[in-house]
Amino acid sequence: MSAIAWDLPDDIRAVREGLLDFARKEVLPRHAAHRELFEDQRKLYREDGRFSDGLVGLIGEVRRAAARSGYYNMCVPEALGGGGLGHLAYYAGWEALFHLCGPHNWLMLYVISHWAFGPSRLLEKVTPEARERILGPMMAGEASMCFGLSEPGAGSDAAALATRAVKEGDGWRLTGRKIWTSNAPVADYCIVFAQTDPERAAARRGGISAFLVPTSSPGFEVQRVIKLFGHIGGDEAELRLEDVRVEPWQLVGDLHQGFAAALYGVSLGRIYNSARAVGYGRWAMELALDYAKTRKAFDRPIADYQGVTFPLAESATELHAAHLMGLNAATLLDQGHPAIKELSMAKAYSVQVGFRAVDRAMQTHGAMGFTNEVGLYHAWHSLRIVNVADGTNEILNRSIVQRLLKGDTDL
Ligand SMILES: Cc1cc2nc3c(=O)[nH]c(=O)nc-3n(C[C@H](O)[C@H](O)[C@H](O)COP(=O)(O)OP(=O)(O)OC[C@H]3O[C@@H](n4cnc5c(N)ncnc54)[C@H](O)[C@@H]3O)c2cc1C
Repeated sequence: MSAIAWDLPDDIRAVREGLLDFARKEVLPRHAAHRELFEDQRKLYREDGRFSDGLVGLIGEVRRAAARSGYYNMCVPEALGGGGLGHLAYYAGWEALFHLCGPHNWLMLYVISHWAFGPSRLLEKVTPEARERILGPMMAGEASMCFGLSEPGAGSDAAALATRAVKEGDGWRLTGRKIWTSNAPVADYCIVFAQTDPERAAARRGGISAFLVPTSSPGFEVQRVIKLFGHIGGDEAELRLEDVRVEPWQLVGDLHQGFAAALYGVSLGRIYNSARAVGYGRWAMELALDYAKTRKAFDRPIADYQGVTFPLAESATELHAAHLMGLNAATLLDQGHPAIKELSMAKAYSVQVGFRAVDRAMQTHGAMGFTNEVGLYHAWHSLRIVNVADGTNEILNRSIVQRLLKGDTDL
């Protein structure tokens, strides 16, 4: 019996099944065949912290296979040549992949185009010339991009960014710094957010624009790869832009209105991370249930002890609620509602309960919970970080309360 009283639309259910088949054929066997690589950080990363050539090769293989199958571009608008599926498909597809693959089989991250790394609705606003130049390789999974919004002095308050785009002829020159930019070490393009009208930007009345910048542009530099705790390399980077020349074809959307694109991108990130938290939480909880049924202490399976199982029951309840919230928020977005309150609730709640479910699964496993082969640590690490990325829990509460105070109190 399904725990949910209504069915997802047929096309989304079919896509979800197809994605799982794809992951069983293209993702899980690659992890099994390259266990040595995935289990040794010294083989995963280069000295400077970037992904090793072996890993970059495998990511490319999965991305290109996913592009050929149609799954990679399934949520890219039809006008860009994609499958045109919406936010619900995005949520349901990612949730199913995270649930099946867990944190171990993380090449699944490249099966559906990630909103900030691959083609997505963000590219709807690029100029015809930019489409001509980048869309082919992006859609084929051969090129990727990154999203340069956060800066050393502008995180939660992203509109306080200081990167400047100074007009020069009919183009601009970009100067500034970006930080935490995911996928930047391997990306071919970066969407860079910069002030085009400092006065308006200071007054929070527009004045910020988005530009599509090839990472090979003179003056664009990946200064360093950021190594997050427990890792000797990574996918986030600090960027430096020094007088990077951009032409009119590189403007994304309307001049001075780039912040709307930034907010929309972050919304997609919130859907993605709600799905990640629910999927990992379900994966961890099922692992813990299996373990509790077989592991014995004091002559009985530990599943006989309510001290072990009640926390799992609480996590199941929380994950069920989070899953419903994710499905609901995605459906509201598909109906054309901004769903600021509902999406903020879904992301903040999902990442907290997903993290708690993984933590409880670790406790259920005793010392085994801390081993790399069980993999719970990887999910724990990932979800701890997602409590900050794409809007911290506090900023999401801020968004919720702002809506409530404006009278949007429907629940
Ligand atoms: C793994 C990872 C990947 C990321 N990828 C990207 C990326 O690809 N592109 C990109 O542009 N950015 C990226 N980010 C950056 C991310 O968006 C920021 O980290 C996030 O917005 C928070 O900013 P901050 O880290 O500067 O924290 P700060 O803004 O300095 O906040 C510090 C603390 O103060 C709290 N706080 C701040 N303001 C308030 C307030 N008004 N009320 C209550 N509490 C408040 C915060 O919640 C937080 O706890 C990534 C971050 C991580 C961790």
